[in-house]
Amino acid sequence: MRIDILSLFPAMFDGPFGDSIIKRAVEKGILDINITNPRDFAQGKHQQVDDTPFGGGSGMVMKPEPVFRAVKHVKLHTQYENRRVLLLSPEGQVFTQSKARELAQLDQLILICGHYEGFDARISENLADEIISIGDYVLTGGELPAMIITDAVARMLPGVLGSEESAPTDSFYNGLLEHPQYTRPRDFEGLTVPEVLLSGDHARIAKWRRQKSLEITLRNRPDLLEVAELADEDRKYIELLKQGITTDK
Ligand code: SAM
Repeated sequence: MRIDILSLFPAMFDGPFGDSIIKRAVEKGILDINITNPRDFAQGKHQQVDDTPFGGGSGMVMKPEPVFRAVKHVKLHTQYENRRVLLLSPEGQVFTQSKARELAQLDQLILICGHYEGFDARISENLADEIISIGDYVLTGGELPAMIITDAVARMLPGVLGSEESAPTDSFYNGLLEHPQYTRPRDFEGLTVPEVLLSGDHARIAKWRRQKSLEITLRNRPDLLEVAELADEDRKYIELLKQGITTDK
């Protein structure tokens, strides 16, 4: 998969993409990340990329020409049919795990990072296939959202995660939060690992994990339970939890 990021601050990406799993994915050739600076497509001696808003108001707005030209350049120099242009903005649909899985099916993503007060609306209205927000808060720029989306999408690509990391048991993948995990030692200063996990009884372990997952989701994100795929057994357990009863500690 190829991910093109349009950013006025390309150096910001060096650290996050220069280490660990994303770096490995790039080295393996699974992921190709390219950063394009819209400033290189700005005209005039000062290569101005922003300007004051029409109608007044504080802050600077990103001008349309450099961004339109940068996207055109990327599209001309890459030959993918299955691609999407995403604009990063707090006004967009909130990014989720299922969106990450959907985007991982594409061959190319073009992510446009804003800065300052945001974009000239002609960019969001005419250039973007989709507008994405990473949450209900405002950041200084779209670079961190672009890193987050790249990371979440990359994890969904076959071959990116090794056997030591796995996506299907992660939170949100199946609509629930993940069950608790433990590793050695069995006893850390009197804090012990639940007995069931040491039992070797795979069916009992699977049941315990499912129940813990339901318990944590009910406690921290009950909204997820409204849309998660639940078996009758899950629903019965949730009813017990609501009555304050838990089983199989
Ligand atoms: N004036 C804009 C507003 O109120 O919606 C906020 C602009 S913000 C300071 C500058 C840029 O950061 C945005 O254009 C966008 O690219 C990025 N940004 C900030 N918060 C974001 C979020 N929650 N999700 C995605 N991008 C965000």
